[in-house]
Amino acid sequence: MTETERVLNQVRDLLREFETSLESVSVREKVVALVPAFDAVRDLGKTLISEGLRLSARDRLLAYFLLYPRCVLHEKELAIVAGISEWARRVRELRVQHGWRIVTGVTVAQMIEAGDLDDLDIGDADLGVNDYLLADTNQDRDAAYRWNVANEIRRGAAGGQDKILKYLRANVGKPVSGEELSYVAQSSEWARRVRELRTEQGWPISTKMSGNPSLPVGVYVLERDRQAPSHDRRIADSVRRQVLQRDGYACRNCGWTHERWNTSDPRFLELHHVVHHAHGGSNEATNLVTYCNVCHDDLHKREDSG
Ligand SMILES: [Zn+2]
Ligand SMILES: [Zn+2]
Repeated sequence: MTETERVLNQVRDLLREFETSLESVSVREKVVALVPAFDAVRDLGKTLISEGLRLSARDRLLAYFLLYPRCVLHEKELAIVAGISEWARRVRELRVQHGWRIVTGVTVAQMIEAGDLDDLDIGDADLGVNDYLLADTNQDRDAAYRWNVANEIRRGAAGGQDKILKYLRANVGKPVSGEELSYVAQSSEWARRVRELRTEQGWPISTKMSGNPSLPVGVYVLERDRQAPSHDRRIADSVRRQVLQRDGYACRNCGWTHERWNTSDPRFLELHHVVHHAHGGSNEATNLVTYCNVCHDDLHKREDSG
């Protein structure tokens, strides 16, 4: 007899017992009598995945997703396979901590709204708000690694801003999401802290609005593990944006733009003061010029030696 058959027999027995309780007068007695059968049905669902194996709810959910990639799965199916009431949390763990690209109907609705659905390649799948879909059978290993780093930093004793900086420095050149930074900082002020890191402490943190228009909304990249020289700091975000836009997001010396970015030459754009800050130069747009970091470094070296 298979495990499924064994549990099914159990369910039948328990339902028969429940039937006898229908003669009792109190509603409560009937409800209590149904509990064992209710639990047994749950066990029945658990036996449907990898019979005989002692898998966790999360493992069962993943196995089910992998059996039906790019198929729309309803939340009730997942509840049956998981056999626990907290199953949605396990799906979230698979998604966030383990890097499985599980798309929820809610996310899809938000992405459609943002006009951002094409990248997802989910075909004609029509996801309702209670549906789920595994978009890719390859795990994003880097997501899992980043998640571990994030947890380690989050548990540390440092303040929110230090934790954000630590996390960014652990991911130089890699895009990290605002959700990750918010999680690491454990503070609703995380976005403000990131901005301070850029504008007051001179860390080259790019966003769509500041530095790299090709980045998606809500994504941050620490371009280089080095703070800008103090004379380049404290430029207001609005001024930075204005200058970058004016200069067409290109180095005014060599013409470098983000389209030419590659791993062997990971440049980024910086602002240079025409009249140096130390010599009374202002942080106004008229005193600022866009340079790539290579040309910017060269310029300062020449000025230092000249
Ligand atoms: Zn340049
Ligand atoms: Zn400069």
